[in-house]
Amino acid sequence: MTTRNPYRDLPSVDRLLADERLRALSAKYSGDTVVALAREELETVREAVGRGDAVPAIDAIVEAVDRRARSTLQPSLRPAINATGVIIHTNLGRAPLSDEALAAMTAAARGYSNLEFDLEAGERGSRHVHLEEQLRRLTGAEAVLAVNNNAGAVLLALSALAQMREVIISRGQLVEIGGGFRIPDVMAQSGAFLAEVGTTNRTYLRDYAAAITDDTAALMRVHTSNFKLIGFTASASLDELAGLARERNLWLIDDLGSGCLLDTAAFGLTPEPTPQESLAAGADLVLFSGDKLLGGPQAGIIIGKREIVERLQRHPLARALRMDKASIAGLAATLDHYLRDEALERIPVWRMISAPLDAIGRRARRWRRAAGGDATVIDGRSMIGGGSLPEEGLPTKLLALPQTAGRSAQALGRRLREHDPPVVARIERDTVLLDPRTVHPREDRIVLAALRAALAD
Ligand SMILES: *Cc1c(COP(=O)(O)O)cnc(C)c1O
Repeated sequence: MTTRNPYRDLPSVDRLLADERLRALSAKYSGDTVVALAREELETVREAVGRGDAVPAIDAIVEAVDRRARSTLQPSLRPAINATGVIIHTNLGRAPLSDEALAAMTAAARGYSNLEFDLEAGERGSRHVHLEEQLRRLTGAEAVLAVNNNAGAVLLALSALAQMREVIISRGQLVEIGGGFRIPDVMAQSGAFLAEVGTTNRTYLRDYAAAITDDTAALMRVHTSNFKLIGFTASASLDELAGLARERNLWLIDDLGSGCLLDTAAFGLTPEPTPQESLAAGADLVLFSGDKLLGGPQAGIIIGKREIVERLQRHPLARALRMDKASIAGLAATLDHYLRDEALERIPVWRMISAPLDAIGRRARRWRRAAGGDATVIDGRSMIGGGSLPEEGLPTKLLALPQTAGRSAQALGRRLREHDPPVVARIERDTVLLDPRTVHPREDRIVLAALRAALAD
């Protein structure tokens, strides 16, 4: 018996491309792309044959190329439903935007704009002017600069004000923001030298005062937004730090993180420090994100004394970190909601925070009817997230889907994520939990469909 060359039965690329399905694919994507996909699939098959597998039918290979196209050529970033109950979920894209912010972003991106054009003078203008008036009115700042994100704002501020000089910061504030991103590392990148003072739990004003040298450029406070120091603790207040900074002729930089413009105490939460309070307390520069509690697009907002903000504007990093035109438009529209006193109704993050419990309960019960079986509605807590107000949360109603003999919570969670669009739930103690608070009511039908599909056998 002669040994037959098993690779002989592999179809050629041309043979595959002659198939109607792949011809259709070639009409949608470039021919080269489909040829590359066919080659990749044939290579996979060749490897399998090398391991002793039989050559699959040509139909199966075509099918696999088609699947490969679907999984690799579609844009990878896609919308998802956030049923986790974490309002500012960094992994799910942080703040969803208001309709008005979206319309403004579309308008700015679709055509041309006066992004860096002074319409009155008919000559070159600055992109930095567009947010200035609104932010000045909302925070009382002298001057404003918005960059790509708040980590960029910290980098720019320290690069422009403290390169090769010292910045004094409390050991209790050397935080990791998330995703392994640490404030001390950002500071090091700026070329500023970190002078750590105090201990993890207690830092006094005298610790700052004792650390000041001729090389000191600034005092910095970082809002420990994503954890809470409790028990035997002490820290210098911003007022105290401002007094010391003034006396010793240093800058005071306040990294606030969230950029909360409203009073969180109105919703039973701990008061989150606001940029306007920081300025009033005497900070020279206040930095915060655009897409946390502010509820706008990704941005790093810098407000403060004109002299300093202008120094930052002139720094080369300001160009490298500059904000995109669509985001400027979206941020301006978001700020407009605050000026119109309609933030709670219009800005999704605040609509979720202020959502009445009985409305959430009604939706949870509707979801339960779709889920059927042993699903229940239970009391729980929604989280603010985005490094704001850790541990605390808002009372909410959750749809609870316990695991069953035939189906683990992990498996059910996966099935919900396999829905199109994916529904992301929270899993706690072998129970899948879904919180209506972070789901827009217009997305309820998607959740209902995903529940029915995931729970069907
Ligand atoms: C979130 C956060 C940052 C980083 O902001 P991004 O906009 O994500 O870059 C910096 N500092 C603090 C205190 C934060 O909470």
